[in-house]
Amino acid sequence: MPSFVIVEKCDGCKGQDLTACMHICPNDLMVLDAETNPEKPFAYNRDPSMCWECYNCVKICPQQAVDVRGYADFVPMGASVVPLRGSEDIMWTVKFRNGSLKRFKFPIRTTPEGTAQPLGGYDEGDGDLNSVNLMTEPASTGADILPQL
Ligand code: SF4
Ligand code: SF4
Repeated sequence: MPSFVIVEKCDGCKGQDLTACMHICPNDLMVLDAETNPEKPFAYNRDPSMCWECYNCVKICPQQAVDVRGYADFVPMGASVVPLRGSEDIMWTVKFRNGSLKRFKFPIRTTPEGTAQPLGGYDEGDGDLNSVNLMTEPASTGADILPQL
């Protein structure tokens, strides 16, 4: 089920040119509609048929205004699932049809915020597109030199 925006909750990321959902969508699907309601622009998914249901827009929205109906294996029989993102984890709230709630917290990082090392701390390698070495090789393999064809 593709993502959809709950218009009443969306604040258009307070008028930013690039909203959070536009920034994060790997398929460039989210756009801001500034014409239908110029006083309160809102985002929408411009091509639901191309949506990967990756949940990125759902997780990043600061207003919890994007929804994707969850798959039956973890939110069975019409339950809803809503993520609340923190800096270290995401709190998921599942609301079942009978009104009961279940919450679980899932960590989203293994290093303190701001300390992730690009390329794992290795330099990018020889930078030659024709080389058989991949980026960061050979240093990241632990070998000084790799076999060549
Ligand atoms: S991230 Fe949320 S609040 Fe911001 S524009 Fe998208 S749907 Fe609206
Ligand atoms: S669920 Fe993923 S692919 Fe679909 S609109 Fe959101 S970010 Fe894009």
